[in-house]
Amino acid sequence: MKVHNVEMVISAVRPNQYPEDGFPEFALAGRSNVGKSSFINKMIGRKSLARISSKPGKTQTLNFYKIEEQLFFVDVPGYGYAKVSKTEREAWGKMIEMYFTDREPLKAVVQIVDLRHAPSADDCMMYDFLKHFDIPVIIIATKADKVKKAQWPKQKKLVKTTLDMVPSDPLIVFSSETGMGFDEAWAEIESRM
Ligand code: GDP
Repeated sequence: MKVHNVEMVISAVRPNQYPEDGFPEFALAGRSNVGKSSFINKMIGRKSLARISSKPGKTQTLNFYKIEEQLFFVDVPGYGYAKVSKTEREAWGKMIEMYFTDREPLKAVVQIVDLRHAPSADDCMMYDFLKHFDIPVIIIATKADKVKKAQWPKQKKLVKTTLDMVPSDPLIVFSSETGMGFDEAWAEIESRM
């Protein structure tokens, strides 16, 4: 999809603030610093739209981006940031659990991991949580430009086996630097709208 129109509609903390347009929603999840904002910005063709609001330590909100009057990207605050207090972590957990488990327009969660490394314990916890609730997941293994192409199959396998991915969930090698995986990621999203 070539995106011309993006509107940041709301930073929500409660279900009664979620938009009511009924457009399909794709939530973006990943640990802090994995490259989630870069992924979003690449996908929507912007330089910095998704950056400010999702920095660690900022208010923890679900940010709804309306795209082409057709779908929403829902930016979920990054997980696994060490300096977040227990209270904040619990508030984060409650908020995303409410959203992930009881949101009819949610079609899939796009979970971002780093192609260079085995997924972290937090990555595995997030994936298990989503699978527990039968939510389709699209795994994006980003920063592919930092891995030699010959190593991609090995790294993909590492991601798949560490997360214990179900075969119906796709894994897409991506780079926000080169645009690698852009078409494939959009095709996956559009096929689920
Ligand atoms: P977030 O905290 O998950 O939103 O992560 P950011 O998108 O802010 O990215 C964290 C850092 O990784 C930044 O320095 C980005 O420039 C860098 N980064 C993100 N994606 C890529 C990528 O595909 N390739 C490379 N080489 N660097 C990336």
